Amino acid sequence: MANQMVKDAVNKLKKADIRITPQRYAILEYLIDNHSHPTADEIYKSLEERFPNMSVATVYNNLRLFTKIGFVKEMAYGDASSRFDFTSTRHYHAICESCGKIVDVFYPGLEDVEAAAETLTGFKIKEHRMELYGICPDCQAK
Ligand code: ZN
Ligand code: MN
Repeated sequence: MANQMVKDAVNKLKKADIRITPQRYAILEYLIDNHSHPTADEIYKSLEERFPNMSVATVYNNLRLFTKIGFVKEMAYGDASSRFDFTSTRHYHAICESCGKIVDVFYPGLEDVEAAAETLTGFKIKEHRMELYGICPDCQAK
């Protein structure tokens, strides 16, 4: 399953004429294996031993590239570091206020809210994001 996801992503890169460097491959693999919505820094730290010459900027540039191609979504939080989500299906997120864990919430898209917002504001809405905050099961058990 994870292997197939890596293969699909590699094919998309090839189609876009993007070279698959070992670093690029490792970043991709990390995103798919650790579905933890990592920051660029977290990815960098876990790969720096394997790729001593790689910089955080390289990780960042690759994440931006993946985002542009469309199989990675950037979750921006104002001044805090962006998190990156390898995703094929649209979903929302539940965030633990105690440990910071981010978990996928698969729920039908709230397109009716977009339509309502258009009516209410006159905006042409392009997308929306929903985050639900609370305490995860692990933290509840503590
Ligand atoms: Zn938690
Ligand atoms: Mn997600």
